This record gives sequence, C-alpha cells and structure tokens, in this order.
Amino acid sequence: MRRLYLLPLTLFALVLVVWTAGVDAVQEPHPSIEVHRITDTLYMLGSGMETGGNIAVLIAESGVVLVDTKLEGYGPDILDHLRRLTDKPVTMIINTHVHYDHSGANTEFPDTVQFVAHENIRRHWARTDCQPIPTNCDDFQGENRKYLPKTTFSDRLSLFAGTPDQIDLYYFGRGHTDGDTFVVFKEARAMHVGDMFLGKTLPFIDAENGNGGSAIEFGRTLTKVIDSVPNVDTIINGHWNTLLTWDDLVDYRGFYTDLYTQTRRSLDAGLSAEEAIAAYEKPARYSEYSANKGGAGFTVDAIVNYIYRGI
Ligand SMILES: [Zn+2]
Repeated sequence: MRRLYLLPLTLFALVLVVWTAGVDAVQEPHPSIEVHRITDTLYMLGSGMETGGNIAVLIAESGVVLVDTKLEGYGPDILDHLRRLTDKPVTMIINTHVHYDHSGANTEFPDTVQFVAHENIRRHWARTDCQPIPTNCDDFQGENRKYLPKTTFSDRLSLFAGTPDQIDLYYFGRGHTDGDTFVVFKEARAMHVGDMFLGKTLPFIDAENGNGGSAIEFGRTLTKVIDSVPNVDTIINGHWNTLLTWDDLVDYRGFYTDLYTQTRRSLDAGLSAEEAIAAYEKPARYSEYSANKGGAGFTVDAIVNYIYRGI
C-alpha cells in the first residue's frame, strides 16, 4: 500500500530529473520492464512510473501492435522483450495521449510502422512552439515529422475489424488531456486507458501546457466510457504495475466524481477555493485512494482550483 502514496512523488521526481537533464535523461542502466500476460497474444509491458507508461502488446496476425512506447531510450528494451514473445515485427503503434512518457520511443522504431493517434494528439505533436515535456513534440520536428501519425480519428476507429485482432479506439472528450484514447482489445476483453485512471490516486490534469486537460470534464468522460464501452474485464492503465479490472475503473470514477461533487457544492455555497479544499473529506469507502492536500500536481488543491477556474 505504501507504493500508492509514493506514486505521485515518484512521477514528480522523474519529471524533475528528466526536465533537468534534458533529452539524455534515460541512461544505462535504467529500470527494467516487467511483462504481464493477459492472453497468449496480449501482454502488458509495465513497471510503473520508472520506465514510462505501460505498453499493451498485441501479437496480431499481420504483426505486433504497440499501445504507447514508454520513455525515450526504451526502444531497444521493448524490442528485446518482444523478441521473447514473437518473431513478428512491430507494424503499428497507437498512442493513448501526447505525453513524453507514453510516446518517448515512437521515433526509435522504423518510420514504416503505421502510427495511429487521435487528431488532437497529432495536432499537439505538430506544434513547433512547445517544450518536450510533457507534450513530446520535440520528437516530431524537422526530419522526424515523418513520424507524425498518418492514421487519425475523432471519435471512433476500428482496426482489423471483424478479425480476432479487432481493436476499437474511442475518444469521449477531455480529461487528463484533450486526446485521451481508450483502446479496446475486443477478443481479450481488455482496455488500455492511458492516464485517465492513475491507479489509486487523483489524476494529473494537464491544463497548463496547451494540452486541453479538464478537471470539470474528467469525471464526465469516465462516465461516458463506463456507459458506452461494452464487454471489458481487464484494465491496463497508464502506470499501475498490475492489471486492474472494470470494477476498479468504475470505483475510480466514483472517487473522482465525489471530489467533483463536493467541490461544486462548496462553489455553489459561496466558499473560496481554499475553503473548498479544507472542506473536502474523502469518504471512508475510498480509504485506499490517496487524495493529498497541499501543492500542485496530483492533489485535491489542483483539482479544486481548476474546477473553480472553470477548467
Ligand atoms: Zn500522461
């Protein structure tokens, strides 16, 4: 359980280190990837915050599909693990959102790979005026513009439709960013949710970097997922190093929505943001979740302040 409380701090430390050290931040030896089997053809390449976001690997008939690519520098490690699972080459990479810790190794694969992403992700990566962290558009400048996704979508996209490899992509609106993609592996009844479900801690809302995160929409977006996506049992989330369940996702929506509702009530009662933060009480049923007060990032303060600012 202690890990739950260290999670936000670990990411902050990581961001700080990477920010400070620039693009050479991932050096040998770096933390290693752990492989989690879901089915004979679907795996999660995990290990929490230290290696970047969790990857879903689908060994499809036509080649290997990756969902996310961890931090810059992890391309060789990813290939190393894939070689133990299959001889097939990587033919498709889907990204859940714009962040550097989910797309850092995209450009370490051949540019013949089919890159698939939500249209807002592509738009952010195509910017020429961004910082590499957290948007990662630095990776797509100059000659590397060839790595910008050529397959994009707005609301829904089915890949390999009608085959055992069918993958359904869904976009339901703003949350962690404005491109959060839910990737459903139909036959395995599994879904990669990116950073829309951070495990047992409050989410990070990326609202300060032009990436469109919204504390107001976050809970509504999760509700749309829960109401619209059928037949999912297993959840692969952005950074939690075990597989989670649909019920865990529903519970997380409840945890977040309760904070939103309490904040709304304080706002309607004329309380200040500071008073709303002080007034928030985590319900006993969410005792396993961390909802820390004080500071920015993954805190009650951050969420409440965004809601008060209409973000
Ligand atoms: Zn993220």
